[in-house]
Amino acid sequence: MSEEKSAAALLKEKLLIKKKSGTKRLSEEELKKADDFCVGYCDFLNSGKTEREAVRTAISIAEKNGFTEFDRTRNYSAGDKVYVNNRNKALMLCVIGKNGTKDGVRLGIAHIDSPRLDLKPNPLYESNELALFKTHYYGGIKKYQWTAVPLALHGVAVLKDGTVKDVYIGDDENDPCFVVTDLLPHLATEQMTQTMVKAFNGEHLNVLIGSRPFSNDEESENVKLNIMSILYQKYGFKEEDFMSADLTMVPAARARDVGFDRSMIGAYGHDDKVCAYPALMAAVDTKCPEQTVITVLTDREEIAYMVDFIADLAEADGTELRHVMEKTICLSADVNAAFDPTYASAYESNNSCYINYGAVITKYTGSGGKYSTSDASAEFMAKVRKILDDADVIWQTGELGKVDGGGGGTIAKFVANWNADVVDLGVPVLSMHAPFEVVSKIDVYETYRALYEFYSFV
Ligand code: MN
Ligand code: MN
Repeated sequence: MSEEKSAAALLKEKLLIKKKSGTKRLSEEELKKADDFCVGYCDFLNSGKTEREAVRTAISIAEKNGFTEFDRTRNYSAGDKVYVNNRNKALMLCVIGKNGTKDGVRLGIAHIDSPRLDLKPNPLYESNELALFKTHYYGGIKKYQWTAVPLALHGVAVLKDGTVKDVYIGDDENDPCFVVTDLLPHLATEQMTQTMVKAFNGEHLNVLIGSRPFSNDEESENVKLNIMSILYQKYGFKEEDFMSADLTMVPAARARDVGFDRSMIGAYGHDDKVCAYPALMAAVDTKCPEQTVITVLTDREEIAYMVDFIADLAEADGTELRHVMEKTICLSADVNAAFDPTYASAYESNNSCYINYGAVITKYTGSGGKYSTSDASAEFMAKVRKILDDADVIWQTGELGKVDGGGGGTIAKFVANWNADVVDLGVPVLSMHAPFEVVSKIDVYETYRALYEFYSFV
């Protein structure tokens, strides 16, 4: 029997999209590369839970790979690698191209802040002989997910004289940890009938931090005093120093393989370190590109410092910022919501992204059709498709959930404001913004490959 294909099979091959999982497209060898890449990623996650820690970790990786601190007064040539540390909370990495900035730069931007519980400016209090911290959540969270899980305290307190006191406690298994308590089910009859928004509000997110008094005398607030005394001995700051601190409660768990087959990673802070790390490694592996390549690991979405940096490079190249920006192309590296079969009704299956199907391109973000949105042009989408397909990168497209089901913004709209071409590309995530989010190792690796190929595009 000959194996001749039917007319329908041939036409299908020619006209229809072939969706195929990365698990079927990658060879054993390539799968191993993806797994190995993710070992480094897990280290990055464990040592970079806050922006400050992520910046510190990224600088140490960059310096080991030939990056030096940018000096505005120096002349740089093709292949030189520099970085700019912006206030210890954001980092730019630049590989100077043979052609400099004249024809635009290749930009990759990812954010390194993640949802967490920030301590309020006046956090410490005692109630019924328990010491607690008041917190203010940062990022969109489902508050109940942050109760009854071990938390660690990370950050800095800065004294009036400018001395920076680092705090890092709760991650080591020998450290104590902290916790937001929750009401037992036996007494939660009323709570269980409430909507989630009412049952868990922001003022419930108080962190338990101690229960023993400083001494047996009858002074009030002795438990609080004892905590302050421990903090003063260990870190050298007083209660008033909380006012000038970036202190935050983050999940104490470390990144771990998920699944019997170890195909996925569960961790705190995938959004958006899962794009930041691939962008960082793409910068590290970019040798001597045609066009200058800039990778930005940013705190929040303010990117004025990036524009200033590009202006410096433009000036050195004898050109103008606006002329560089109009030719600049950018991948806004950010996550998308992976299709979750348990909550299938929240997704539109034809336009969702899937675990193991590679880096996801999100043509437009935001909500409401036009408001606070960003939309990549069809021309730019075509260019990105070609770059990825030519390099056999595994990728997919996705929308964030159903139309009018919600929505989320990324940095893309801020870049678009500077008249650069930009589209979102990143990793599909399950349980996004939970204390323990899940991604696929294949998708992390393909996102790295996508950024790397984009950076080399001439
Ligand atoms: Mn997010
Ligand atoms: Mn994000």
